[in-house]
Amino acid sequence: MKSFKADYVFPVYADPIKNGIVTVDDNGKILSVSEYPNPEYQHHPIEQLSGIITPGFVNTHCHVELSHLKDKIKAGGGLVEFVKDILAIRNADQDKVAAAAEAADQQMYDNGIVAVGDISNVDATIPIKAKSKLYYHTFVEILGFLPESAEEVFNKALKLAEEFKPQSVSVTAHAPYTVSKELFKLIKHHSDAGNNLLSIHNQECEDENKFYRYKLGGFIDLYKHLGINIDYFRPQARNSLQSIIPLLTNREKILMVHNTCTNLKDIYFIKRFDRKINWCFCPNANLYIEKRLPKIELFINQGLNITLGTDSLASNSKLCILSEMVTIQNKFPSISLEMLVQWGTKNGAEFLGIDGDKGTIEVGKTPGLNLITGLDGLKLTAEAKVKKLI
Ligand SMILES: [Zn+2]
Repeated sequence: MKSFKADYVFPVYADPIKNGIVTVDDNGKILSVSEYPNPEYQHHPIEQLSGIITPGFVNTHCHVELSHLKDKIKAGGGLVEFVKDILAIRNADQDKVAAAAEAADQQMYDNGIVAVGDISNVDATIPIKAKSKLYYHTFVEILGFLPESAEEVFNKALKLAEEFKPQSVSVTAHAPYTVSKELFKLIKHHSDAGNNLLSIHNQECEDENKFYRYKLGGFIDLYKHLGINIDYFRPQARNSLQSIIPLLTNREKILMVHNTCTNLKDIYFIKRFDRKINWCFCPNANLYIEKRLPKIELFINQGLNITLGTDSLASNSKLCILSEMVTIQNKFPSISLEMLVQWGTKNGAEFLGIDGDKGTIEVGKTPGLNLITGLDGLKLTAEAKVKKLI
């Protein structure tokens, strides 16, 4: 048994507690969370800390298998160039891929992350996830913009997902610009029938909307580069997100990732559909690839579930949820730390369906505990740091 006292404890399911104290058992299970002093545990040793205690972080968007691409792709080149580069250099020596992935898993652990929603295109991370201290849900990602290839790529993904079992796994669409209507329909049918959590890269750049609206922009060049004939594709006269929503299941939760070029019209459009949409922001990756951030203020106070992700080390200098929070707070000072912590813990746990045990400091749960220091009152500073307590 162990107790931690800090300037603040953020239980997240309830208001922050000034001079809070958390007591855990030897397995990290929460025994109590209250104001200091807690008479029930006053005779046990207490570790006095300055800073705030939060639950362990949940990273809802990562690609652990791309960790070997750190510093390999030039920053600021835009998404189309990024995708071309990734496809050109993603295949590397298997030992290198495995070593970098293992180091990434350790880095997330050290940065107080307890659970990850991870995109996989290959089987490279299966052994790492099997022995990791983190919880993983793997999204086996499907790409195929040619309607005639839909069945083949879908079946290949189902086979890869089988290899990940008994780990938590589902199959998902990569992005509106890499998945044909036919392929979306196969994924929908599969998701309608059973448990199949979805995670889709959404509106990461303006060219994605331009392609769907007018069949113009940088993606035309990408398909040419990849040798994909898109003669069949008709401009949809609306943004990519609005175009694909009818092709998605209403039985399963869906995470829209990035949302860099999502506007208020898109958000209102979504609200009219009975789809279980969640929103994930990965601000550091957006700055790395597109040098811009989503219009995050538009998503606030709309009753939407917002989560945070790191994306991969191909487009980020580290895998650290606190660092994503610092970036958001810098750009959007009106967003409170309390809200950011909720995005990076409880909301992610709810999306992944692990909120029975993770995401909040609540008696009976084993959420992990982080200490955040480097604050100015309740604002994060550039010196903010996270230390894993348990
Ligand atoms: Zn991604």
